[in-house]
Amino acid sequence: SVIQEKGNLSIHTENIFPIIKKFLYSDHEIFLRELVSNAVDASQKIKKLASYGEYNGELGDLKVVVKLDKDAKTITISDNGIGMTADEIKKYINQIAFSGATEFVEQYKDKGEGDKGIIGHFGLGFYSAYMVAQNVEIITKSYKEGAEPVRWECDGSTEFEISSVEKEERGTDIILHVAEDSEEFLDAHRLRGILEKYGKFLPIEIEFEDKVINNPSPIWTKSPSDLKDEDYLAFYKELYPFGEDPLFWIHLNVDYPFNLTGVLYFPKLRNDFAGQREKIQLYSRQVFITDEVKDIVPDFLQLLHGVIDSPDIPLNVSRSYLQADGNVKKINGYITRKVADKLLEIFKNDREGFEKKFDDIGLFVKYGIISDDKFYEKAKDFCLLKNTDGKYFTFEEYREYIKENQTDKNESLVWLYTTDEKKQDAFIQSAKKRSYDVLVLNSMIDSHFINALEQKLEKISIKRVDADTLDKLVEKEVKLESILSSDDQEKVKKVFEGVSENKTAHITVEAMPVDELPVVITFPEFMRRMTDMQASSGQ
Ligand code: ADP
Ligand code: MG
Repeated sequence: SVIQEKGNLSIHTENIFPIIKKFLYSDHEIFLRELVSNAVDASQKIKKLASYGEYNGELGDLKVVVKLDKDAKTITISDNGIGMTADEIKKYINQIAFSGATEFVEQYKDKGEGDKGIIGHFGLGFYSAYMVAQNVEIITKSYKEGAEPVRWECDGSTEFEISSVEKEERGTDIILHVAEDSEEFLDAHRLRGILEKYGKFLPIEIEFEDKVINNPSPIWTKSPSDLKDEDYLAFYKELYPFGEDPLFWIHLNVDYPFNLTGVLYFPKLRNDFAGQREKIQLYSRQVFITDEVKDIVPDFLQLLHGVIDSPDIPLNVSRSYLQADGNVKKINGYITRKVADKLLEIFKNDREGFEKKFDDIGLFVKYGIISDDKFYEKAKDFCLLKNTDGKYFTFEEYREYIKENQTDKNESLVWLYTTDEKKQDAFIQSAKKRSYDVLVLNSMIDSHFINALEQKLEKISIKRVDADTLDKLVEKEVKLESILSSDDQEKVKKVFEGVSENKTAHITVEAMPVDELPVVITFPEFMRRMTDMQASSGQ
């Protein structure tokens, strides 16, 4: 078709501004995260300029100070970073959605540091101030030689005012005049809470009421070779003050094809997943984003604790977008691989230690095997099976161990297991008399785990010791005399059939090698396991 006209779309600020104010973030407390991030950026920039030789003055003690004045109803965020000239205010503040952070990174991209340490990039953060403030003042003085300090003010309409002001020191004060409907933020406890939540690991000191609230160099920003076990344990305590010590940890560190750092800890898991509430925390450039990592970390890895920091995870976007995001998928795969590699490493280097830990990590490994094929490919070499004698085997070792006695007519291996060593003791003893080995598979996900293995491993069938198919599947004939005559056997059978409530049960009267047990009640493996699986999925 013929183009009739080309042009630029225009925006009416007076219409778009209320939208930004109201809907930019669903959570109003985010304003503090944004303004403190800007103050941190301003501090990082002056540091960088000094290192590039573009600023030769004193750096001083770089820090961000947050002050609350209840009477004046103001919150002030101050920094001694690069500050702004009047022209820069017009460029960076008056132009909504123009990011000075992105411009800075672009300008110095040849310095080889990339965007390291600079947080901002949307050019919208500043305006989140209006989610809670009816009026905002900026008082700022640029680091530049002879720069005049300036004052900017805007009451949330589309009109601003720039005037002259007194200010001795380099840097910026952002003064929020808190709106009536946001007075909940004029509370020291609340403010400290928000600062600690989002700013606990920001790279520049954040001071509130004369106290530094953050740890500017958390361990995930350091090199693993500079860290000792004590450092990892201390950091765990910092994250989860009431948590029990973790079993071990993995230091994540990758910069291609995406950027990601972090430390993941293996906690001691209890048998029920519920109540394992220590969550993985997601950061972007040391700013806390969320502890809802559902889409970024594979389901089974959400049992881990710790921190992931990645500037490459898209934020503030919808969930379905996140799931489809290529980086997120790669991050998922990377974390899974790292976790599997670490487990394999421990298994290889310290089998004994690995076995000791397996009761705690087994649940997690099995969950991974069930839910993630890539993980299974690695885990099949280190996942352990424990038998009733407390011995541990890998799948391969177990194949060797039982192949003499427990191979059926179809050349399939038959694994036997118990879900309850006490209740099924008679069956276990009976199996042992036949020289069969019995595994202990009694955790809540074992029925799912067994199902997954039957599909993945070739030529095995897995039966509980009281399954009805047991004798048919196991080839080795063991002749045992019943202690009852065949007449008595029939009579006993009738009695038991009369009182049995479970219609799927098979009642046979036979010679159990355990002397006191002439009667055996067995259940079809398939039916029973389906019921178990439903129960553990909460259906
Ligand atoms: P972004 O941080 O994504 O660039 P913002 O809307 O948060 O966008 O801020 C816009 C710009 O305003 C910043 O990039 C920066 O140039 C400037 N700015 C904001 N706060 C400060 C501050 N405290 N000191 C110096 N410059 C600032
Ligand atoms: Mg910003």
